[in-house]
Amino acid sequence: MSRLWNFSAGPAALPQPVLERAQRELLDWQGCGASVMELSHRGKLFMGLAQQAEADLRELLAIPDNYAVLFLQGGATQHFAQIPMNLADEGASADYVVTGHWGEKAASEAAPYVKVNLAGSSKDENYRRLPPRETWQLDPRAAYVHYTPNETIHGVEFHDVPDVGDVPLVADMSSDILSGPLDVSKFGLIYAGAQKNIGPSGLVVMIVRRDLLERASRPMARIFRYADHAANDSMLNTPNTWGWYLAGLTFQWLKEQGGLAVIGQRNEAKAALLYDAIDHSGGFYRNPVAVDSRSRMNVPFTLHDSALDADFLKASEAAGLLALKGHKALGGMRASLYNAVPLEAVQALVGFMKDFAKRHG
Ligand SMILES: *Cc1c(COP(=O)(O)O)cnc(C)c1O
Repeated sequence: MSRLWNFSAGPAALPQPVLERAQRELLDWQGCGASVMELSHRGKLFMGLAQQAEADLRELLAIPDNYAVLFLQGGATQHFAQIPMNLADEGASADYVVTGHWGEKAASEAAPYVKVNLAGSSKDENYRRLPPRETWQLDPRAAYVHYTPNETIHGVEFHDVPDVGDVPLVADMSSDILSGPLDVSKFGLIYAGAQKNIGPSGLVVMIVRRDLLERASRPMARIFRYADHAANDSMLNTPNTWGWYLAGLTFQWLKEQGGLAVIGQRNEAKAALLYDAIDHSGGFYRNPVAVDSRSRMNVPFTLHDSALDADFLKASEAAGLLALKGHKALGGMRASLYNAVPLEAVQALVGFMKDFAKRHG
């Protein structure tokens, strides 16, 4: 068996110790004679797992008590629509700051449920830099401000939490949650599809200030109402038990690594190594993003001659480097450097890139 260095944007690499533990426990979990996937979510064993996963996440992010933690389904995309249903009264408006593909999607999926005010955007610059905070047109009466701290496709990332005053800040952290320390108290709601930095797809982790749960005033089925999920410990219906289990193993792994300060330093070092190789390639490789807006998680880059793309991809795979093909919206390459991608993987990538440039320069 050989595992390759995996730079997939999502579903993405999981920590190898997590996969190995899941493999060991697959047939007989905790000596109960069945797999964790084959147990009732209402049983004592699974309830214990669920509580432990939440407790570990709370510890990692120092989540204050006035926030609920939810383990939901539907992908981030479903919550693009469900968030306005829950946080905005009928007729209300919400501010959207759009810095790439996912922010655009969030705004368009919200539009049937809330008046979307495009408060800031860097579309005119092809999302190559963040729109300066002083250019945002925020409405102090907005139900919330939505933004995407890390744009997975365009490779732009906020390095500070923007100050939006008293309006609740809502963040789609699908591709940067748990990538470093975070002050949760600055947010009204944080949500993330699990398949980048937490676990398998099919699970959404949400952290929401409890007072916001009471906002939902329009008629809707309980299954859409976050307050009902919170009141039922995310077990209003059958949760994604396998996803919850793997997320819990990932949280334990993060704690064993020393927590998010250590993880954050590692992610800085990984990204610095790759950007440095791109910037010092004599123009052979290029990253289009303004230096102060660059993502630590997703690094898109192009070759000076796109006719070499196919060769690059073929040779990189032969060298044990998986999933470097860029998103079709941008072309070129993209390396995703989530928590489970070790420094050795980035060293291998950078070594390959230098060698490839030498052979084709
Ligand atoms: C991947 C991604 C999504 C889409 O997630 P789904 O779970 O497929 O709905 C949304 N936002 C961001 C920032 C992403 O990286």
